[in-house]
Amino acid sequence: MLELRPNCECCDKDLPPCSADAMICSFECTFCRDCAEAKLHGRCPNCGGNLVPRPTRPVEKLANNPASMLRKLKPEGCVTATR
Ligand SMILES: [Zn+2]
Ligand SMILES: [Zn+2]
Repeated sequence: MLELRPNCECCDKDLPPCSADAMICSFECTFCRDCAEAKLHGRCPNCGGNLVPRPTRPVEKLANNPASMLRKLKPEGCVTATR
């Protein structure tokens, strides 16, 4: 089951389980759409995998299958490689 992490690893933007702007890799590294497209160009900076839109979980399913509350933040992986 997906963790449904609550925030973007790059900019710490809130990404609730119903958000259509959450993008994940196969390891569930989680980013907002802005970072995934503008900063990461569709690649996960942690594992190199591709980022795809995260499915949303219906609200009635969240009661028994709650989303993760554990915020992950790793902004150093999100700088564009132009330094
Ligand atoms: Zn972001
Ligand atoms: Zn990843």
